[in-house]
Amino acid sequence: MENIAIGDAVPGRYWQRLDDGRLQCDLCPRACRLHEGQRGLCYVRAREGDQIVLTTYGRSSGFCLDPIEKKPLNHFLPGTAVLSFGTAGCNLTCKFCQNWDISKARADDRLQSYASPEAIAAAAVESGARSVAFTYNDPVIFLEYAVDVAAACREAGVKTVAVTAGYIGEAARPEFFGAMDAVNIDLKGFTEDFYRKLCTGSLDAVLDTLRYVKHETKTWIEVTTLLIPGENDSPQEIGALSDWMMEALGPNVPLHFTAFHPDWKMRDTPPTPPSTLTRAREIARAAGLRCVYTGNVHDEAGQSTYCASCGMRLIGRDGYAITDWRLDVKGHCVSCGARCPGLFEASPGDWGARRSPILIAAA
Ligand code: SF4
Repeated sequence: MENIAIGDAVPGRYWQRLDDGRLQCDLCPRACRLHEGQRGLCYVRAREGDQIVLTTYGRSSGFCLDPIEKKPLNHFLPGTAVLSFGTAGCNLTCKFCQNWDISKARADDRLQSYASPEAIAAAAVESGARSVAFTYNDPVIFLEYAVDVAAACREAGVKTVAVTAGYIGEAARPEFFGAMDAVNIDLKGFTEDFYRKLCTGSLDAVLDTLRYVKHETKTWIEVTTLLIPGENDSPQEIGALSDWMMEALGPNVPLHFTAFHPDWKMRDTPPTPPSTLTRAREIARAAGLRCVYTGNVHDEAGQSTYCASCGMRLIGRDGYAITDWRLDVKGHCVSCGARCPGLFEASPGDWGARRSPILIAAA
């Protein structure tokens, strides 16, 4: 925490006053306790006088149309474009961060774009995006802005997607996830040691969030684990993670194993070999999970969707592009009629693998 001047700020939610005069932020399990002028670890929430404020409302690091598969979400409107943006800061400190230029950014360095919730929803409609994603950095820390954008999107008939580590306080979960139609939650490893050493976080808090979203909301959920050589990629750990998912979330929650590339404070760790991803996928499938994917590598077999009932390939993928579609208009297997879990339209989108930055007017 440090003392600095505050820029654009709106009142924040989920905090309490302590007997010693400090204000405690309860938005995430870190529970930062702030004196006047201090910011929390996430950098974007600060104490201003007698309240905690969000300092980045309405500001973003820029907007981009992405394939929904890039979030990654493989069972939520496949083939469609998603209007994606992030802000600055993060409430975890992952040494392997793959977006550190954003997550470690100070607001004034990065946040060049200003956009109202209504302008973002309108831009999504105009560009043909079926959803808006809060991504690149963790939207939990800009909850007030994300929730307002989500409300404007719902009004405009646009879905919302949160890409998050799930490190959020219990009190804030209903509001945050209630606003989202889909989430991808990072399950970064499956030991407390991993979370403590590499993220200064806690595994238990994330598992609680996963259970909450699956059982207490209608939000579609997929899970991503970035496999880091020597840190979280042992068959034992992957087996334990998969068994927990089967028991706590059931067989139909998709799990994505993605490849690490050396970055931020772990530049000496080698990239994940494709064989590690393939082995992880086999372990998870053997545990009973029905929708398991590899990511960040070229692997058509590992990125396609198969019918859990008859085994037919339902959605073929080559990277982020859809190459095959064997679902009927209601999202059922055309061969055996079994329903594929997720949200599907009568036909896939045709956005392909493109990535296209867009400008949004401030109003
Ligand atoms: S969101 Fe988390 S990291 Fe940020 S101020 Fe609140 S408790 Fe601290």
